[in-house]
Amino acid sequence: MKKTLRYNYRLNPTPEQEAKLIEFGATARGIWNLLLSENMRRYEFDKTFLFYNDMASLLKEIKPFEEFTWIKSFDSAAAQQVARDLETALKNAISKGRLQRFPKHKISYKKKKLHNDSFRAVNNSNCIRIEDGTISIPKVGKVPIILHRELASKIKTVTVQFRHGKWECSITQEVECKTALRVLKTITGFDINSKQTVVGSNGYVADNPKFLTQSKAKLNQLQRQLARRNKGSNRWHKTRQRINKLHGKISRQRLDFAHQISRQITNENDILVFEDLNVKAMQKFNGSMVADNVMALITQLSKYKAELAGKLYHEIGRFEKSTGICSECGQHHVLTLNDRHFICVACGVHQNRDLSAAKSIANTGELDLIAAGIVARVNPTSQRKAANKMKVFELSKFAVGSEKKRSSLAFIS
Ligand SMILES: [Zn+2]
Repeated sequence: MKKTLRYNYRLNPTPEQEAKLIEFGATARGIWNLLLSENMRRYEFDKTFLFYNDMASLLKEIKPFEEFTWIKSFDSAAAQQVARDLETALKNAISKGRLQRFPKHKISYKKKKLHNDSFRAVNNSNCIRIEDGTISIPKVGKVPIILHRELASKIKTVTVQFRHGKWECSITQEVECKTALRVLKTITGFDINSKQTVVGSNGYVADNPKFLTQSKAKLNQLQRQLARRNKGSNRWHKTRQRINKLHGKISRQRLDFAHQISRQITNENDILVFEDLNVKAMQKFNGSMVADNVMALITQLSKYKAELAGKLYHEIGRFEKSTGICSECGQHHVLTLNDRHFICVACGVHQNRDLSAAKSIANTGELDLIAAGIVARVNPTSQRKAANKMKVFELSKFAVGSEKKRSSLAFIS
């Protein structure tokens, strides 16, 4: 199985290159607006849309005309990517299952003074290469890049964007997943409490880092400052730019933290069980923005890391309650936010609220996976293992072949 990964790198363009990048971002925005207007006109006229093929041929048709010379200097593969993105946006807006809004026209940098145009180039016949600390981008040239980590495989696409006051490019690559582990030795449930602390059923605890709270306090201060300024004034724009930069810093801090935690828990566990993080529920329960939600990020990152490593990631149903459930007997308890511990009314066990929740997440996940026939519980043969209550699972599709089963069991005992 292959997965597409996205890595972000910082770019250091020369002034000439920077001008080109700004121009290309504006061109991509112009093409988006042009194609969107055309689609809206078409829809008013006969209730149809232009999809990718129509839009691509339309671009080809208008290129020779004088008023569209700005498209000519642009990378044609990148122009096609704009059409592709617009097609996706249109499809998402009109299909019933998705609740996305109808695509909007993009506003120019000059108007909002926050520059975030972007364009995406495609690696056709190796036109995007990394050599001598630069990345070659079609029609821009060799742009210096900070290669903080090696590429995992061949580059598919590169998106260049000026974000939060810095140039960056995100490179997509296709990476082959490791073959699925046949024997899975640990199953761990993870719970997130109201303080956004991650608690694992094996006793793992990771606190929400302090620097995030500090950055958020700074953000609140700047937002109050913005409210005092006259809207549209120079000082107002200045504060807005500072807020934009700080947003960039916070999002990098969150991402870094989420990467560290997800790396650690996927390295240490074979089966990871999370709750389905209904964004709305999370929002209600930590009382701050959805964008703040580090936990949703941790689950996302753990999912792909587990898949790459051939491990199992599982989300239990959204409506399975985990908080206040005794992990020993399943008794429900109503707890307030301040109850960090409780004593089970049915079996009398003293329970830590978060640990008990994480354990019941692991239990539910185990039942789910076995019921769905994804894994089978294997009984460790030796007495010692049974005494340790060590759980061992096997991927079910491999359980059929007895030869493989024997060898893998021999390996763990
Ligand atoms: Zn109990």
